[in-house]
Amino acid sequence: MVGAGPAGLSLIHHLAGHCSILLVDRQEPGMGKLCSGLLTSRAQAELPAPLPRELIRQPEFAELEYHDLDLNLHLKWPVDYQNVDRDGFDRWLWEVAPKDGVEARFHASVREVEREGDHFRLVVSQGERREEYRARLVVDASGWRSITRRARGEGAPLIMAVQAEAEVHPQPANHWGIFRTAFTDWFAWLVPQQERVLMGCGLPYGGEGRGLRAAERMVEFFLGEVAPAFGLAIRPGRVRGCPLTKITSLRQVDLGDGMVLRVGEAAGLVSPSSGDGISYGLSSGRKLARVLREVGLSPEDARERTTRYRKSLREEIGELRLNVVKARMMASPWGRWLGSAIKRLGGGTTPAGQGAG
Ligand SMILES: Cc1cc2nc3c(=O)[nH]c(=O)nc-3n(C[C@H](O)[C@H](O)[C@H](O)COP(=O)(O)OP(=O)(O)OC[C@H]3O[C@@H](n4cnc5c(N)ncnc54)[C@H](O)[C@@H]3O)c2cc1C
Repeated sequence: MVGAGPAGLSLIHHLAGHCSILLVDRQEPGMGKLCSGLLTSRAQAELPAPLPRELIRQPEFAELEYHDLDLNLHLKWPVDYQNVDRDGFDRWLWEVAPKDGVEARFHASVREVEREGDHFRLVVSQGERREEYRARLVVDASGWRSITRRARGEGAPLIMAVQAEAEVHPQPANHWGIFRTAFTDWFAWLVPQQERVLMGCGLPYGGEGRGLRAAERMVEFFLGEVAPAFGLAIRPGRVRGCPLTKITSLRQVDLGDGMVLRVGEAAGLVSPSSGDGISYGLSSGRKLARVLREVGLSPEDARERTTRYRKSLREEIGELRLNVVKARMMASPWGRWLGSAIKRLGGGTTPAGQGAG
């Protein structure tokens, strides 16, 4: 298996002891994954063990403030996101995972995955060392890199997510989603975490959404527009960027063919409206493990594995279908106006305290 993020580790948790597993990751779990660390209620329900208190960041739960700078619309509503230390979270997932029959190779990269008759040949490199392995089945849990898809030039679309720890005064009490179409067709965010705030945004991938320019654009937006509009003093720390899968159609979700199977972001399972990828990683890892336990690993049962795995993800796929539409609406002020009107009709929203000038 390639990848020891939430998806891969969830699979290990539910499959270890049932077959021998080679787990390869370029890093060790918890080595600086760029993330805001918000766990949705599904992610919380999927946790393999009670979450240790020391992984929780304050405020543990907060409301979501919606600030639409195009429409000058400011709302807030309750959400159930739990605020956690993402690096600690991945380390803990690995710590609590059973290890029977699991050989872990960290700081090693899978370079090639090739089918040879009824098995796969994997080339794994670590520094100068190259080793070959034979595997009966491959699980791709390699996140946005989605190595078995990109090797064929077929990965799901990406955006560039950039984020920095910042000092913000006054410190927001809630999570903020900030919308400004001239800046991004996705959104920007503030997530209070302990005495700091994570400030970030998603930008179109490539061109202006690359490297240094993406970082500069985010800082310009927060300092030039957000800070004056809300009377905030913002001092950003180091800005980092990481691609994030953002599907625009369910056709871009690819769970695999029964011999190569994909979980989490590698399969395209990330909410395109919120960027939530941990919950889909945990649930798809658990569900694929169950299918593999029940159906086994033989090539004759490939079709059965795919069918069962797809069926088991009916709820997640249904939710993603809705989120694809939501993301499309979010991309334009009109769509957001309609979305917020529907939300207000449904109740549960109140004007947010801060107003843009
Ligand atoms: C800025 C930002 C903020 C986010 N905030 C949130 C949030 O608050 N809540 C949320 O739910 N989601 C959030 N996400 C999304 C979430 O982080 C991912 O969707 C989630 O980590 C996906 O889990 P995964 O296990 O599928 O993949 P990953 O966690 O990406 O794990 C994939 C693993 O595969 C390894 N790998 C890749 N290629 C190879 C290779 N060739 N050989 C060996 N190993 C390899 C990588 O090293 C990595 O450890 C955010 C993402 C970004 C970028």
